[in-house]
Amino acid sequence: MTVVCWFRRDLRLRDNPALAWAAGEGLVVPLFVDDPAFDDAGAPRRQFLRRSLEALGAATDGALIVRRGDPRQVVPAVAEEANASVVVAAADFGPYGRERDSDVDRALSGADRELRFVGSPCAVEPGNVTKADGDPYSVFTPFSKVWRSIGWDAPIDAPDVRWRRLDSDGLPEAPEVDAELPPVGEDAALARWSEFCDVALDRYDEIRNQPGVDGTSRMSTYLRWGVVHPRQLLAELGSSKAHDTFRSELAWREFYADVLFHRPQTAWSNLQSKMDAMPIDTDRDAKERFAVWCRGETGYPIVDAGIRQLLATGWVHNRVRMILASFLVKDLHLPWWWGARFFMQHLVDGDLASNNHGWQWTAGTGTDAAPYFRIFNPIGQSKKFDPDGTYLRTWVHELAHLGEQDIHAPWESKRGVPLGYHAPMVDHAEEARGSAIAAMSRSRAVNLEPY
Ligand code: FAD
Repeated sequence: MTVVCWFRRDLRLRDNPALAWAAGEGLVVPLFVDDPAFDDAGAPRRQFLRRSLEALGAATDGALIVRRGDPRQVVPAVAEEANASVVVAAADFGPYGRERDSDVDRALSGADRELRFVGSPCAVEPGNVTKADGDPYSVFTPFSKVWRSIGWDAPIDAPDVRWRRLDSDGLPEAPEVDAELPPVGEDAALARWSEFCDVALDRYDEIRNQPGVDGTSRMSTYLRWGVVHPRQLLAELGSSKAHDTFRSELAWREFYADVLFHRPQTAWSNLQSKMDAMPIDTDRDAKERFAVWCRGETGYPIVDAGIRQLLATGWVHNRVRMILASFLVKDLHLPWWWGARFFMQHLVDGDLASNNHGWQWTAGTGTDAAPYFRIFNPIGQSKKFDPDGTYLRTWVHELAHLGEQDIHAPWESKRGVPLGYHAPMVDHAEEARGSAIAAMSRSRAVNLEPY
């Protein structure tokens, strides 16, 4: 018997239950569909995908086939060509993936074939963490408690596979990128994980918020593409506070996947629809302010450093993602989805659920109990989390000569803003106050209450 194993967000051989299932059935055709729907994705993600497929191709001894076209036609056609009665894949819980899979399922069953799901990109599949009455959670802490109590299987080894070879269209086209992307392939991902475990995991709770320190795992890109599965990381965690904090961060990823699964419309619209009443600017002036933010020329060093890190590497430290998002929404009064779209264009770990709900959390329109007055002070955050200015100096070269006294708010220094850098585009204190007042008056007007 031949089984088609359809790879999507699970570009690995180790701990891949769908592949293990296929290998147990007979010959395996490893398939990736180069779906034109992904053509508009950001260049870093497309380039990383191309390179990752090259690595997966090598790991399958060249058996991986890539076919270009709509999966609704391609998958049934490959199944017919291989005379496979089953196509197996890890379930996809995103809005596009679910719709695509139900169409593919229909097409396959029309030809007496089956689309079977084994596993998913999460340790606990979206939809499984519910309140006693079966309703989903909208608040993280109770979600994470139930998520932990459900638990997950231990990771499994890569199976012995008898590959069956069909013709391939070759690797997907992808624009070259200037950003320096992380190395691809399972070995590179696990090497980075093991480096993180050796150097930073035991202090993760203390150093995870410092963007100038290499104190986080950088697993997001590998998790996004399924080069590693969260089970593989969870299996190595102990019970210390640091390890537990790391476990919690993985739970955030699954929380957002769950929220998006239950409410797919919240990908691009406010989870709390009552927040639709909050004022946002979208006029020409707003577009100009947005362009300044996108170039990393706001005059706020921590904001500019974050944008420049994003453009140079396709990745930004979590603390700085929050600062960037807060500045765009609360200081520039722009729609969060402008920023979310920009992130998706440039992040190599861009993930609809984590990104768009990360933006909504910061904007105060998403999950959380009382978020409206959470306004990040870009100077205070910079001083607190990058006290000696290491992060700022790495990304904002115009300020590299400044000491820690001056670098966080150069316009306040005796010599003023250094030549070649920018004066602050807005006055944070004034804008933040404006946002808080607007939020307060709106919250009364639309009767906002925490849920
Ligand atoms: P670590 O600190 O090592 O954390 C380990 C893993 O936990 C991460 O790889 C990630 O999978 C998960 N994780 C950690 N923090 C979060 C979080 N706040 N939300 C969800 N998962 C989390 N993450 C993405 O994977 N893709 C995105 O597109 C994305 N966009 C974001 C946009 C905004 C505005 C914000 C505030 C956060 C966003 N995040 C996103 C979450 C977080 O910033 C990244 O997951 C993290 O910075 C990745 O670095 P790391 O792997 O070193 O994280």
